[in-house]
Amino acid sequence: MSSLLSGLTKLQSVESRLRAAKAKLARCRRSVVVQENRIRTEQNALEAKKEEVQLTKLQSDRLELELRSRDAEIAKLRAALNGAKTNKEYASLLTLLNTNKADNSKLETQILELMRDVETDQAECDKIVATMDEQKAQLDKVRHDAEVASVKLEEEVTAMQAEWDDAARDIPAEFLETFNRVADTYDGEAVVEVDTQHSSKTSSYSCGGCFMSVTAECVNQLMTRDEIVRCSNCTRILVLSKS
Ligand SMILES: [Zn+2]
Repeated sequence: MSSLLSGLTKLQSVESRLRAAKAKLARCRRSVVVQENRIRTEQNALEAKKEEVQLTKLQSDRLELELRSRDAEIAKLRAALNGAKTNKEYASLLTLLNTNKADNSKLETQILELMRDVETDQAECDKIVATMDEQKAQLDKVRHDAEVASVKLEEEVTAMQAEWDDAARDIPAEFLETFNRVADTYDGEAVVEVDTQHSSKTSSYSCGGCFMSVTAECVNQLMTRDEIVRCSNCTRILVLSKS
C-alpha cells in the first residue's frame, strides 16, 4: 500500500485505540458520579417516605383529637341520659349516644389503619437507610478504585496520544483535517476497507462502513494512485483490504 493511504490506515488503528482508551477513562470517572446518583436517589426516596409518615401521623392526630372530643360528648350524653325527664327525651339522647359511639368505633378503626401505615412506612425508611449505608460504603471503594484506575488510564491515553501524533506527523494537513472531521462524524471510524464480493464473472465492491456499493473506478483509483477516495454515500475514507 502506498504511503498516504498506509499512513491513514495506521492512524485509523491508533485513533480507534485512543478513542477506546478515552472512553474507558470517561467511564471510570463517571463511575463515581453514577454511585453518587444512586445514593441521591435513595436519599430522595427516604425524604419522600418520611414526609408520607409525617402526613399520616398528622392525619392520625387529627382523628385522635376528634375521637377525644366525641368521647367527651358521649360522657356528657350519658350524664344527660341519667337525668332524662321523659321517655321521648331519653330515646332521642340514646339515639345520639349510639350514633356517637358508632362514629367513634369507625374513627378507632381508621386510626389503627393509619398507625399500621406508619409502621409499614417506618420499616421502609429503615430499609432505605440500610441500603444507603451500603451504597455509601461502596462509594468509598468506587472512588478509590476510580482514582487508581484513572491514573493508569491517563498514562495510557497520554502514550496513545503520542503514538497518534507520531502517526499523524507525515500526513498532509488537509488530509488530516478530513480524517479528523470524518472520525468525529463516525465515532472514530474515518478509514474503512472496501469489501469485495466475487461472483463467477465480475467482482462488486462496497464500503465497509455503510455497505453501499463502490464503483470499480474508485477501486481502480485506489490500486493505482496514492490519493484519498471517499465513499460517495457516507464520505468515509476508503482503502483496499490488505489481504
Ligand atoms: Zn460508505
